[in-house]
Amino acid sequence: MNINIEMEKTDNAAGGGEIYDLAIIGGGPAGLSAGLYGARARLKTLLIERGLFGGQAATTDHIANYPGFPEGVGGAELAERMSQQAQAFGLETVFGEVTGVKNDGGLKMIDLSGTNYTARTLIIATGSEPSQLGVPGEAEFRGKGVSYCATCDGAFFRNKDIVVVGGGDAAVEEGIYLTRFARQVTIVHRRDKFRATQVVQEHAFANPKIKLIWNAVVEEIKGGQVVEAVKLRDTVKGTTQEIPASGVFIYVGTKPNTAFLGDLLQLDDRGYIPADERMHTSAPGIFAAGDVRRKDLRQVVTAVSDGAIAAVEAEKYVEAQREAGVTSGRK
Ligand code: NAP
Repeated sequence: MNINIEMEKTDNAAGGGEIYDLAIIGGGPAGLSAGLYGARARLKTLLIERGLFGGQAATTDHIANYPGFPEGVGGAELAERMSQQAQAFGLETVFGEVTGVKNDGGLKMIDLSGTNYTARTLIIATGSEPSQLGVPGEAEFRGKGVSYCATCDGAFFRNKDIVVVGGGDAAVEEGIYLTRFARQVTIVHRRDKFRATQVVQEHAFANPKIKLIWNAVVEEIKGGQVVEAVKLRDTVKGTTQEIPASGVFIYVGTKPNTAFLGDLLQLDDRGYIPADERMHTSAPGIFAAGDVRRKDLRQVVTAVSDGAIAAVEAEKYVEAQREAGVTSGRK
């Protein structure tokens, strides 16, 4: 992918002060699905992505539960297929960080680090990012043994000992993935029961390279130049122990990417966007899709569903505005 070429192309397109029917912030599965549905509905649609297409899914080595791929599919490959499909329908894309959004009644103004884009409707599909433990050594050793992405960094730990922290799907699935490289993977979980899906748990229990430490939390990540050990505290007995490790992969949930929204729309107490089943947020003409939305099941399949619904609702909103003769938010 040539990011510079894409930026130049779209910046030129926006230079004429064009108004997009639909702007989408975030190029993960939700945003790409919204882009596909929006562009296919002949809405003039722009998708803004700050990094690579695919979001968190693109950092997943193997997605086993996306319908239509009985052998599973790599996250990066799925993202590439989705972006190609959406762009074939006419989706425009631009790369950069959105620093703010203003809602001027009918029009939404998006500030992309100084370049402004205007759209009649907006879909926020900015997803979420890994939460941190907040323990000593975590920030210091980030990139020196501490990682939040097994697909990105796992290969650096061939025949080494790895600690994975967490008990959800991400921790257990990525722990299994890391056994391809590691000598041993120790999953440390703060309770005595995983939150992960049963079938995923069963794979972990059956894997001889995986060791489990229940009822334990990380107190400190220790080392010299790089990570050498993890200090754990037993949450039941109160005792501590240090286990040697070269890598620490942290999967303790995620937090939403909504800080840039300011008071544009209503957020819940954790920063997620409440939206109804038609993806409408508290702000008319602004929709939310994917992991950034308050919901129970965060999967690729629910993200793409959200994106499709949000784009169809955006289309209805644009139509209603046109019928009402609203061509600009500036009255
Ligand atoms: P999650 O399901 O929220 O799990 C977070 C885990 O981290 C929990 O086990 C939690 O413990 C633990 N935790 C939270 N804060 C902690 C702390 N400060 N110290 C130690 N442990 C802590 O998050 P996730 O695994 O990232 O998954 C997020 C969503 O994506 C879920 O809906 C998940 O199903 C989905 N997902 C799906 C797949 C898949 O289906 N292929 C793969 C990855 C993720 P408790 O259990 O005690 O709360």
